[in-house]
Amino acid sequence: MIIDTHTHLYHKRFDDDRDEVVERARAAGVGVLLLPAIDVESIGQALNLCSKHEGIFAMAAIHPSDVKESSDADLAEVRRMAADERIVAIGETGLDYYWDRSFDEKQQDYFRWHIRLALELDLPIVIHNREATEDVLQILEEERKSSDVADRMRGVLHCFGGPVEVVARAVELGFYFGIGGTVTYKNSGVADVVRAIPPERLLVETDAPFLAPVPHRGKRNEPAFIAEVVRQIADARAVSVSDVELLTTSNAMRLFRLGA
Ligand SMILES: [Zn+2]
Ligand SMILES: [Zn+2]
Repeated sequence: MIIDTHTHLYHKRFDDDRDEVVERARAAGVGVLLLPAIDVESIGQALNLCSKHEGIFAMAAIHPSDVKESSDADLAEVRRMAADERIVAIGETGLDYYWDRSFDEKQQDYFRWHIRLALELDLPIVIHNREATEDVLQILEEERKSSDVADRMRGVLHCFGGPVEVVARAVELGFYFGIGGTVTYKNSGVADVVRAIPPERLLVETDAPFLAPVPHRGKRNEPAFIAEVVRQIADARAVSVSDVELLTTSNAMRLFRLGA
C-alpha cells in the first residue's frame, strides 16, 4: 500500500473524471490520499471528498502564493475548519519567492501564523518552499525557540529537491521529506538527495495535477503515477519497490497519525 501524501484531488483539472482518478489510484495500490489546501474554498472541497471516499484526509491552510489576496477573515476560517477531525495537517503553508516578490513580509507573517496554529493543534506542518529555503528554516527555528510546545513541531518539506545540506537541519526540526515526480527527471539531482535522507524521514507524493513523473511528464499528473516515483527511489537507494512502499507508508502513518 502506498500513501500519496500530497495530491490536489479537488483541482478543477479532475472535474471530468475524479471518480476514475480515485479508482485508478486504488488499482495502483495507493490506499490513502492526503489533500493539501491552497485556500479556504479548497479546504471545504477536500472535506467533501473525505466524506465521499474512504482513505482520503484533508489539510487546512492558505498557500503562500494565495496569501496576497487573503485576509484575517480567511485565517479565522482556516482556524475554524482545522478543528475538523478529518484534518490531518496544516498545509500547504511556507514561502514562495519564485512568482512574486511584492508581498514577502505578508507571506512570512502568514507562515508564522500557520506554524503557531499547527503547534497549538498538535498537527504536522506541510511546507511549500520555492527559492526561500533559508527563510523557511530560519522562521521554523525562531518559532520553535519561542514556543511553549516546541516539541510538537514536525512536518514535511513537500516536493523536496535539496540541497543535501538542508537535510540535517530539517531533520533536527522534526521534518520529513516529500519526494515527488522531479526524482524521475534527468539531471534534477533529486536521486542524490534521496540517498542523503534518513530512511525514517522519507515520504512519497505526486503534487497532482502538477509535476507528472516520467514517462507522463508534461501531462496532467494523478495519484496512480506515484508508482514511478516509488520505483525511482528504490533504484536510487538500491532497495526493492516493496521496501520503499512499506517504509514510506509507515513514515506517513506516524507523521500524520493515521489509523490511530
Ligand atoms: Zn507546493
Ligand atoms: Zn501542492
